Amino acid sequence: MIKRRELFSSLASFGKRGRESFDIRPPYVKDSDSFSKLCIECDGKCATVCEENIIVIKEDKTPILDFKKSGCTYCDECAKACEFGVLQIEFKKNINAKITIDMLECMSWHKTICFSCKDVCLDNAIDYLGLFRPEIDTQKCTSCGFCVGVCPCEAIKVEKWQ
Ligand code: SF4
Ligand code: SF4
Ligand code: SF4
Repeated sequence: MIKRRELFSSLASFGKRGRESFDIRPPYVKDSDSFSKLCIECDGKCATVCEENIIVIKEDKTPILDFKKSGCTYCDECAKACEFGVLQIEFKKNINAKITIDMLECMSWHKTICFSCKDVCLDNAIDYLGLFRPEIDTQKCTSCGFCVGVCPCEAIKVEKWQ
């Protein structure tokens, strides 16, 4: 007979299937094609000014955001630094990523108290149903990513908005 732990682990791996990886971009772009067209000429200036150090320049010389250590404060500095017009303050909008909590991997959903994600969420976008069931309010979430790296179970998922 399948054990409870094995059941959770097989359900968790099932949940991971179909989650395609994608590039999380800085939040000031009008046309995402401009990264591949224009960043090739640049020396990655946006990455050098990011106060949170979350901008990573890929091999193709385009910038992506890495939420492992921190999140985006929407400070505008990357857009101000971009000399090629790829990032522009007038196109400021939420980062194109849907942030969710995987209840199969979240220890709070398994009845161990944890408020790590809620503690760092400046937008108060994480609501708990009772003590143990956190959920992200998509109306309030700005996709800043601060909650992603602090989760001890890697239960916070970043997916592309469809
Ligand atoms: S808005 Fe600020 S914190 Fe966000 S990626 Fe740009 S420079 Fe970094
Ligand atoms: S500063 Fe602008 S052109 Fe340079 S890598 Fe960043 S987005 Fe691309
Ligand atoms: S990504 Fe959303 S839920 Fe997470 S800290 Fe930012 S606003 Fe809060």
